[in-house]
Amino acid sequence: MEYGPSVEDSSAVRDWLASRGQFGHFIGGDFTKPADCFASRDPSTGEVLAELSQGSAEDVAEAVKAARKAQPKWAKLSGTDRARHLYALARHIQKRERFLSVLETLDNGKPIRESRDIDIPLVARHFYHHAGWAELRDERFPGHAPLGVCAQIIPWNFPLLMLAWKIAPALAAGNTVVLKPAEYTSLTALAFAEICREVGLPEGVVNIVTGDGKTGAAMVAAEVDKIAFTGSTEVGRAIAAQTAGTGRKLTLELGGKSPFIVMDDADLDAAVEGVVDSIWFNQGQVCCAGSRILVAESVAARFETLLTARMQRLRLGAPLDKSTDIGAIVDPVQKDRVLSICKAATDAGAELVGGQPGEGCFIAPGYLKNIAPANPGMEQEIFGPIATLSTFRTADEAVELANNTRYGLAGSVWSESATVATDIAARIKAGVLWINCANMFDAAAPFGGYRESGFGREGGAAGMLDYLAEPAVKVVKEPAPK
Ligand code: NAD
Repeated sequence: MEYGPSVEDSSAVRDWLASRGQFGHFIGGDFTKPADCFASRDPSTGEVLAELSQGSAEDVAEAVKAARKAQPKWAKLSGTDRARHLYALARHIQKRERFLSVLETLDNGKPIRESRDIDIPLVARHFYHHAGWAELRDERFPGHAPLGVCAQIIPWNFPLLMLAWKIAPALAAGNTVVLKPAEYTSLTALAFAEICREVGLPEGVVNIVTGDGKTGAAMVAAEVDKIAFTGSTEVGRAIAAQTAGTGRKLTLELGGKSPFIVMDDADLDAAVEGVVDSIWFNQGQVCCAGSRILVAESVAARFETLLTARMQRLRLGAPLDKSTDIGAIVDPVQKDRVLSICKAATDAGAELVGGQPGEGCFIAPGYLKNIAPANPGMEQEIFGPIATLSTFRTADEAVELANNTRYGLAGSVWSESATVATDIAARIKAGVLWINCANMFDAAAPFGGYRESGFGREGGAAGMLDYLAEPAVKVVKEPAPK
């Protein structure tokens, strides 16, 4: 692939990777000896970036032991002292922003503009926000206690950001963690482990074990107090079954098929930009992507013309090129998965506009039209840069179509009337609703789903509660003297 003149310099990251070569796990403040290694690749070129260790049940047990040992002391620190550590992590992430952005893009395939302007700044913001919660914990949640040791399993679509969503609230609450990044994208988690050491985080507070689903399954079976999982609904369901009756706290952040509703009075140009932010951001590998576009029939033709023109202007290419809009899909397995759902959709009668596969892990942006509600492309989460486009006649019909899904993660509504937009948003069964925007995230705003999108919240006060135990003893007011 040709790299243009505006390519981000990756030499510092490449030097770092070359100096490490093989990574062990980060347990008890140190890296273990690499063992049972597998390759981690740049999906845009197939180049091997590093070798990672496949975590065994014994590795997981070691990491849990280290976290268990560190937890009482970490929990006993004052809120201000825990906050100091979280502020230090946030500041170091900001200092290493450029390095982490390039590493994330190399490992995941996402455009450098996204890792530099969205992912990594949000990571720092998450640690800053939760430093505040560490200080406020006892005042805001009196009597609550940390849970203990948390096992955290994350996906590959926002690797370091998902790590921040998991680790920052857990630590703020007084827990210690064992985190497993996804097997495709573990490198920024390992760089984060080095940052933990640099800032002097007490050993054992954060432990990182790499590996695939088998390592994840070992974490679910381990002696931990909470499991926090983000990933597919299928694996989430298995984890829920495995943990039932164990008394462990569980939060699941799973898939979605979120509606993107364009009313007849919407600003259509703005709505088209919203689609770009919604389903063509991060190659559509976004759990809350507005993957089902529903447009008022009276404006559908005009909207589609604008949409197609905008789609054709999106630049597909080298992720490190600063002008790239659409980078690489994370792995060939995921690319095949996206293409197979598109094929099932067209076999069932839908028409695919755009969406052609390129060489390697690339797929051009596209959408499926003339698609029936029961078409597999309409029902399944494609998790790629392919939306569906359908129409509605009335607001009631829009709401009915929007809710016709087994998921309930997010939704967005586009209308120039605040009354119309808020009325429709209130009738959509989803955890997160946006009006005249999409995919807006903030550490203070709780994020999470309903139905098969999972349960539990991440971010804000609600997210903190998911890392705390309710007080067992309530303070009862003494009766007034007679
Ligand atoms: P996945 O659920 O297989 O993987 C997510 C994480 O879980 C990874 O770290 C993986 O190693 C681990 N894992 C896999 N099997 C496990 C098991 N049995 N026990 C414990 N941990 C296990 O997801 P995937 O295959 O990487 O992606 C497939 C689909 O997942 C996507 O198409 C999408 O639907 C969904 N997904 C959702 C999100 C989200 O943010 N909600 C993110 C990524 C993927």
